[in-house]
Parts: sequence; structure tokens; C-alpha cells
Amino acid sequence: MHSHSSRLHDQGDRIGFVPTMGYLHEGHLSLMRQARKDNHVLVVSVFVNPTQFGPNEDYDAYPMDLEKDTSMLREVGCDVLFTPSTEEMYPVRVATTVSVPGLTDRLCGVSRPGHFDGVTTVVNKLFNITRPHRAYFGLKDYQQYRVIKRMVTDLDMDIEIIGLPTVREPDGLAMSSRNAYLSAKERESALSLSRSLEVASEMVASGERNPAAIESRVKELIESQPFLSVDYVSVVDAEELTPIRSLDRPALLALAIHAGGARLVDNIVLCKTD
Ligand code: AMP
Repeated sequence: MHSHSSRLHDQGDRIGFVPTMGYLHEGHLSLMRQARKDNHVLVVSVFVNPTQFGPNEDYDAYPMDLEKDTSMLREVGCDVLFTPSTEEMYPVRVATTVSVPGLTDRLCGVSRPGHFDGVTTVVNKLFNITRPHRAYFGLKDYQQYRVIKRMVTDLDMDIEIIGLPTVREPDGLAMSSRNAYLSAKERESALSLSRSLEVASEMVASGERNPAAIESRVKELIESQPFLSVDYVSVVDAEELTPIRSLDRPALLALAIHAGGARLVDNIVLCKTD
């Protein structure tokens, strides 16, 4: 992969890169279609990265279907599929890691300690191997997007990071490989995530400016459903992910919810300026 990327650079090709953990869906494909449009070559990685999972998380259960992924990738016009094994990515224990403290101490960083260090380190490795000009991330994982953007800025990496909107099922549920864990009843309850984001956005449209009022209304809506338990519901500054006192600037409403065996995230940016 490394020498192939170098050849592409020598030829003057621009590389668009979409890192994934596989079990692809329309959310992943939307990133790929954009990358396909913007660049000469589309490189996609499928790698379930062990270092971003905590000891009691779903690494061993993470869904996989490389055959189906491959046919979806063909359809979307992917030029290079990079699927390294864990041994290839981590032949020895990695001593060097990349951390983005601050941004990763909040939201998902609290309940998933070490998760973002695993993400930033593997994304760095993948960037070094695939040498992209542009890399595409979903805003469904909004904190991840901000963290990667910050890493690229801080380390002067010559890569444009592009964030694209969340793709949803027709009933509003954000697409996720982890939706495969949901029973029909849990899935029904999980619709309250996207519904509560809509309610929050209506509250802001009707003049609500108090983040705490929005957080408690959203919590109430989610906790009224069976099978769900709230990890967090937070309104934070959309750039720094820090708590805010008033909705007087772009703010992120982010949720992480346990639904049966799945941990689901969703979010919306409130008070957008553009
Ligand atoms: P994953 O395979 O879950 O690691 O996701 C790979 C990339 O796809 C990440 O940048 C995710 O944010 C993005 N992604 C996952 N689900 C969606 C979705 N529903 N809409 C848009 N992007 C998504």
C-alpha cells in the first residue's frame, strides 16, 4: 500500500481516503461518493482497530462481511481497498501514540477512556500508509471529526479533512454498523434519539437558549422509552466541545445511549451560523 501510494503521488494523482471498520452502509458510501468525485483515486480501508476498543467493549463481536463490503466498494468505484490484518498494523506493541488531550476528555472520552488515543494513532498510521490528499469523516461521529481535524492542524499534516452529514434510515435512525445489534423493540425505542434531536431543534427555533433545559427535555424523552439508558446528553460549544451557559453560538447537542447491547451516538448542531 505504501509503495502504491507513493507511485500515485509520483504520477500526480490526488488520493481521497475513507477509513472505515467495515460492515458498510449508506453512511460510509456517502463519504466514498464524495471522495470519488473530488479525487483521482479513492482508497478505502477496512480495519477493525483493536486499540480503540475498551476491555469490556464489542471488539470480538464487531460485525463483519468483507464479501458484501467488497461488492459495495466496486459499485461505488473504489480503486483501492486496504484491509490489513491486526498483525500487519501492529507487528510490535506500539510505543508511539498520538493524543489530543482536551477535546478527547469530554463526551465519549469520559465513558471510553483511551478510545480516542486508539483512533488518532491508527488514523495517523493509516494516513502515513495511504498518503491521502483528502480524508473523509462522518459528522455522526462529530467528536472524532473534531479530534482528527485538530490533530491534522496541530501536527501540520498536509491533508484536507472533510466532514459530511449523517445519513439516516427513512425513519430517522442514524445509520451505524452497530444497529445490527438491535432487536426490533430496541430499534423502535432507539428512534427517540433522532426524534429528541428534532424536538431540541424546535425548542431552539422557538427561542429556548438554556442548554440545561434542552438537555433535560432530551433525557426525559429518551428515558421514557424502554430498553434505553443514557450515557450522556450534552450541549457543548461546537468547536471546542466545552460546556456553554447559553445557546448564543453554534452548539453541539450530542447523545450517547445504551440500547440493549449497543451503544449508539447521534448529534445535531444547534444555532448554526451558516
Ligand atoms: P466506522 O466504520 O463506524 O468507523 O465509520 C467510518 C466512517 O463512516 C466514519 O468517518 C464515520 O463517522 C462514518 N459514518 C458512520 N456512520 C455514518 C452515517 N450514518 N452517516 C455518515 N457517516 C457515517
